[in-house]
Amino acid sequence: MTDRLLGTTDIARHCGVTTETVVSWIKSGKLNACSTPGGRYRIAARNCIEFLKEYGMPVPEDWIGDDEDADQQTDEESSHMNQLVLPKTNVPRLVDNLRKSYRVFGPVPRGNSSAFVELDDAAELQLDYTTTILPPKKLVLPAQEELLEFNTQTWQAREPEPDTKPVAALGVHPCDMQGILRLDFVFRKGQAESNYFDRRDRMLFIGTSCNPDESCFCSAVGTNKFDEGFDLFLTDIGQSYLVSILTDRGREVLKGLGTKAADEIDLNEMAKARERCSTHAGGQMQPSASTLPLLAKDGEDAALWEDIGSRCLACGTCNLVCPTCYCFDVRDELNLDLKSGKRSRFWDSCQLDEFAEVAGGESFRKERSNRQKHRFNRKFRYLAGEYGAPFCVGCGRCIRQCVAKISILETANDLEKAVANL
Ligand code: SF4
Ligand code: SF4
Repeated sequence: MTDRLLGTTDIARHCGVTTETVVSWIKSGKLNACSTPGGRYRIAARNCIEFLKEYGMPVPEDWIGDDEDADQQTDEESSHMNQLVLPKTNVPRLVDNLRKSYRVFGPVPRGNSSAFVELDDAAELQLDYTTTILPPKKLVLPAQEELLEFNTQTWQAREPEPDTKPVAALGVHPCDMQGILRLDFVFRKGQAESNYFDRRDRMLFIGTSCNPDESCFCSAVGTNKFDEGFDLFLTDIGQSYLVSILTDRGREVLKGLGTKAADEIDLNEMAKARERCSTHAGGQMQPSASTLPLLAKDGEDAALWEDIGSRCLACGTCNLVCPTCYCFDVRDELNLDLKSGKRSRFWDSCQLDEFAEVAGGESFRKERSNRQKHRFNRKFRYLAGEYGAPFCVGCGRCIRQCVAKISILETANDLEKAVANL
């Protein structure tokens, strides 16, 4: 029997229902599913076939597969089928293939950094990069998003038509993918947030190995994961990419691209390239990730928070560039006719003076030192406790972009020393 895994979007598309309906089938126990570490549902094809048969719905041929062949396939054959070699010269063809079905976003050079933008031309793409100014989080949680239009005369409100075209994010680094898995966790809690998941479930993620700099520390926080969350992962092995196929949707976009099966030499090169990424991204963090929640708790009264608070300009950049920060503000704006208007949400920052202000102008986190402490605790203690791993994915963006040269890495290192001296 085939052990292929399907997503809620695959099933929703086949049954002609929304992904929320598929989730409700899962929650009511009608459809058996498992959950990824990031909290996304996955359904074994065999369970889905049983479900479709039980409710008299047609079963797609390609979900059934050739069970006999599947049983005879050795692990080695299977692994080689999922590891292909793609010459770098064929990457533009991959982009063109993707553009037939997806809006395609990827990293392009911007000043002395890079930015994730929609690709009109495959030649713009630069997969060999260190980091982007903003993380690909902006594709699932835009910096500004219109929620509804309203009319104060008729008291009617209308949600904007969603963009339904699938989106492919090409060249996503493991730290940024881990950021998105953490956002999935947040937006799935309680009532799943449909604005977020409408976009998320339409996305295809193609990862690439990275070029870490001294601000990267993914391996210190355990986010150097090359096979988690992606549909495909491209490891740079010189003249080619070794393409790891992680989902059937990923396999689909490789058709006609001139790939060949990877051999032992290619697989060794892949292992070495991944090892290089990992060792260059994490040496600077002294405390181990598992000790950070306790350090954050024991270091609440450490003097270093006053020092960091005195340097912080409360500009909010560290939050805005962070792949795991998700706080937003909701504002209503009235048009000039004073009758119609729109409600939008915007990224917000816990470092801004007005973030914790309440009616009457009081603020329950007035001091910048307290805001810095709060941010550190959010990353390494509060949310980390719920998720089971740090909510900082070690991308280093807040370190590179802080004008006051405040570094979350140095803070962790200094906090360890401060707690040892308490
Ligand atoms: S980027 Fe730096 S200066 Fe700006 S709020 Fe964050 S820590 Fe403070
Ligand atoms: S806290 Fe800084 S290093 Fe950690 S994920 Fe956010 S931006 Fe990246």
